[in-house]
Amino acid sequence: MQRLRELARLVEAVFEELESTFAGYQRRTGLNCTSGCGACCNNPEVEASPLEMLPLALDLFDRGLAENTLTSLDNYSGFSCIHFVRHSLDGSRGECGIYRQRPSLCRMFGAAGVSGKFGQPRLSVCRSIKEEQPAAHLLALTNLDDDPPPRMSEGKEKVRQLDHSLGQRDFPINEALRAALEKVLLLACYSNEVPSDQVA
Ligand code: SF4
Repeated sequence: MQRLRELARLVEAVFEELESTFAGYQRRTGLNCTSGCGACCNNPEVEASPLEMLPLALDLFDRGLAENTLTSLDNYSGFSCIHFVRHSLDGSRGECGIYRQRPSLCRMFGAAGVSGKFGQPRLSVCRSIKEEQPAAHLLALTNLDDDPPPRMSEGKEKVRQLDHSLGQRDFPINEALRAALEKVLLLACYSNEVPSDQVA
């Protein structure tokens, strides 16, 4: 269990690095997500590895919420990430309920780099940003060689390298959280660890 906690701290450190790299590019180019937009989160196919969900899973365990969250995942019948808090019926508006612990892909939403057919940098920008910030989008495309966008695949790889067994495969985000919670609960059982909020 101690090893899992150390691993989670390493994942959090990479998350901070990703935050600064990707948000930095978005700020620099003006290609920021529109405040309150829920388009990316209103989708159960957002992918993450169990490793990326480990900080959240440990936090839920420490707060005595791991089993309840597994039950919520079993009973969940929605069509989005379970942590998406809707502010509109259609889910087009909303916010993240676990913002500080969100996985790596969520830190790259909006505008990021992908590899073109021949490995060249390409800019991937969501439709809303393209529509709302056409001038910034055009400028970022013009500056692609001088200021290439950080690539999503490199960001994901930085996390994956921390632990290939937990990080090698991506799953839909709710399944990735389930796998991380099951791992934490299994190891807690072997090590007789109880949630910190239940320690006398
Ligand atoms: S973890 Fe947060 S940012 Fe990521 S999909 Fe879920 S609600 Fe959205």
